Amino acid sequence: MDHFVYKHGALHAEDVPVAEIAAAVGTPFYCYSAQTLTRHFTLFREALSPLPHLVCFAIKSLSNVAVLKLLGDLGAGMDVVSIGEYLRAKAAGVPGDRIVFSGVGKTRDEMRMALEGGIRQFNVESEPELIALSEVAAAMGLRAPITLRVNPDVDAKTHAKIATGKKENKFGIPISRASAVYAEAARLPGIEVVGIDVHIGSQLTDLAPFEQAFAKVADLTRQLRAEGHDIRRLDLGGGLGIPYTQSNETPPLPSDYGAMIKRTVGDLGCEIEIEPGRLISGNAGILVSSVIYVKSGEERDFLILDAAMNDLVRPAMYDAHHDIVPVVEPPVGVEQQRYDVVGPICETGDTFAKGRDLAPMQPGDLVAFRSAGAYGAVMASEYNSRPLVPEVLVRGDHHAVIRPRPSYIDLVKRDVIPDWL
Ligand SMILES: *Cc1c(COP(=O)(O)O)cnc(C)c1O
Repeated sequence: MDHFVYKHGALHAEDVPVAEIAAAVGTPFYCYSAQTLTRHFTLFREALSPLPHLVCFAIKSLSNVAVLKLLGDLGAGMDVVSIGEYLRAKAAGVPGDRIVFSGVGKTRDEMRMALEGGIRQFNVESEPELIALSEVAAAMGLRAPITLRVNPDVDAKTHAKIATGKKENKFGIPISRASAVYAEAARLPGIEVVGIDVHIGSQLTDLAPFEQAFAKVADLTRQLRAEGHDIRRLDLGGGLGIPYTQSNETPPLPSDYGAMIKRTVGDLGCEIEIEPGRLISGNAGILVSSVIYVKSGEERDFLILDAAMNDLVRPAMYDAHHDIVPVVEPPVGVEQQRYDVVGPICETGDTFAKGRDLAPMQPGDLVAFRSAGAYGAVMASEYNSRPLVPEVLVRGDHHAVIRPRPSYIDLVKRDVIPDWL
């Protein structure tokens, strides 16, 4: 459920007409609904009560500081995968003891900065990382709180580029080696073991792979406790999928996911952390774009938009589907036209949708890509020297630009011509 609906024939973001924002900001732009973000975060919190828990928003899905402040003020923790994300969380006012640090390639500089600024835990992904972290922390006279990310070797049954829990993936330590690596962690002077971490992939639409992974984590918890480790936290990662079409997909609800967590790990007395990204941010955002041209080809008609793969890369990168809707509600029963929906970039990959049925469109018409809040703006680039796409946040009848569109002067001025050239 989200707050992008037609009212009086016009698409609204909560109480604000999308066309009004477009007139003020220009296109393309991302638009987020504060009420949708709040609702999705609250669903997770309710799903995990009454277990002791912390819902850590995966910043990589949507990292604008205004959004982080909104969620942080509701009590959310944050899951970061770089020191850049860590600094964004801090800038949003989130205290270090609510920030967990994930990722396979944390550098010593990143470790030092996170230890200085305060951190809830590092989710360590390899033995070399564990040793480096111990050295960094010990040199600062500290013990770094850690979980080890275990790779449970389960098939998440999602797109290959976002499956992370099979043994051939680069993530975590094999669960079969966990006992030995925890023993090593316990001996290191700069390390304090606090729990176990797992994250098997993204856009999972079935609970079975989660359940398999969490059952393995429950067994491992009992084993590690028997071996003398104080396992008091379980970080179960993110990955719950969202519906990208309004018709045929019905992924499990956060409440189903919460019930499954209670069933698999709820009796261990551990504090539960989860790291949802997409389910909080995905359906809380749209990308709004204008039609530049309608081009009739020999075999098909092209809708050429002013948004492109640099603004929203998911269709090109993951073959992802986004529903595309006109901002002016088409009359009931209007005869649809079939379009290939494309951007202006000089690549055939810059195609958002092939053979999409839409109400007939004219140059200047506005369209919205639904479910674009997650892995949208954060993956945007300036390819083809297109300025980074701006972001707008709506709450009720308020709206604000939360990242302005850079000017062309900004874009060109960043480059430096050396004086010897
Ligand atoms: C990407 C990622 C997440 C968030 O995944 P979603 O599918 O957006 O919920 C959580 N934890 C880790 C470690 C990740 O890499």
